[in-house]
Amino acid sequence: MKKYLIALIVLQACSNPTSDSGTSATSQLKKNIFDAGGVFASNQFDGARLNDFVRLSESNFQATVSPENIPVNASAWFAFQIWSNEKKTIELSVKYTHHKHRYIPKLSTDGRQWFSYEDQVELNSDSTIATFSLKLNDEPLWVAAQEVISSQKTYDWVDKHVAAKSFLTKKSVGKTALNRDVYVVSSEREETSQSVMLIARQHPPEVPGGSIAFKAFFEEVMSNGIIADDFREKFNIYVFPLLNPDGADLGNWRHNAKGVDLNRDWIDFTQPETQVARDFAKDKVAEGKIITFGVDFHTSYNGPYLLILDSTNEAASKTRIIPRWIESIDVDSLEMGDYRRRSQELPYCYNWFFNSFGSEAVTYEEGDEIDRETIRLRARLYANRWMESMLDSL
Ligand SMILES: [Zn+2]
Repeated sequence: MKKYLIALIVLQACSNPTSDSGTSATSQLKKNIFDAGGVFASNQFDGARLNDFVRLSESNFQATVSPENIPVNASAWFAFQIWSNEKKTIELSVKYTHHKHRYIPKLSTDGRQWFSYEDQVELNSDSTIATFSLKLNDEPLWVAAQEVISSQKTYDWVDKHVAAKSFLTKKSVGKTALNRDVYVVSSEREETSQSVMLIARQHPPEVPGGSIAFKAFFEEVMSNGIIADDFREKFNIYVFPLLNPDGADLGNWRHNAKGVDLNRDWIDFTQPETQVARDFAKDKVAEGKIITFGVDFHTSYNGPYLLILDSTNEAASKTRIIPRWIESIDVDSLEMGDYRRRSQELPYCYNWFFNSFGSEAVTYEEGDEIDRETIRLRARLYANRWMESMLDSL
């Protein structure tokens, strides 16, 4: 356990990033290793959320999690490591101070390969405590609401693609609330004016759509193939792979470091992250680029589905890409099957695309517990059909 004790001392010596945010309404998550009598739990990694850990009886332990601030969406994120001095099976209760249990626990021994918890998760009468058994040893076991994908992991993935593809560039285009970089990955040609924007993971827990589907979609668009090559010749692609890195690394349930839901900020633009995305797009338009389409990646209880704007979007649009796209994916076994219409007036990202630039735009929603390989396959298919529909519109 020595290495963990050293890590504890070093981390506590560093300033907690939330303490720099000044006006933050969010509660600080104390970075800690909790010792509950030979069973330990840690929140000392990016994306962690564990507020307390105690022993209830010989083999019963309780992890308490709280949101960053309230009110907050009912997406009760938890993520921690747990281990025991000796081999031991315990009953672990995850207690939520707000909202109810939502996510099937995901387990990992290395932080890379994740498995959905297979056995029964028992809930108390109001679903505020979820209890399940775990086999522990002295190697830390990751227990989390979804796969933990920190900003560093996201940027490592970005860097790998940028290194492998000469047409891709990565650039910091502004700063978050915690003064960290907001990156855009671009495939851009000077002579090409038509452009698209992809935005991912405004909401930290929304890993299935916001990271897994987004990455597969991105990889398809950046792949070598007749459609993708043609697409990248005709359209510039501007990608925000992680618009809320602070929230993702803080293990937030919904918000950025200032306790604000970024996907309700696309009219007022009170937050640095949304301002950065807005200003980037405006600058591109000022350079003569045309924002033809926007995709914003999210996750919901009962996805997959696409959120599309009410009829004005397609009626007003000359390009009619969305109807083409929907028609092309509706016949396939991986269809989304559900296209939900929303008012133009809401302060969501995709409304902003339409209201500001007349772009067609969608919110791409995956579901919390959809098989990950299905998510990837669907995203690749959708990306292909989307590129075809975009090219057909020219
Ligand atoms: Zn969302």
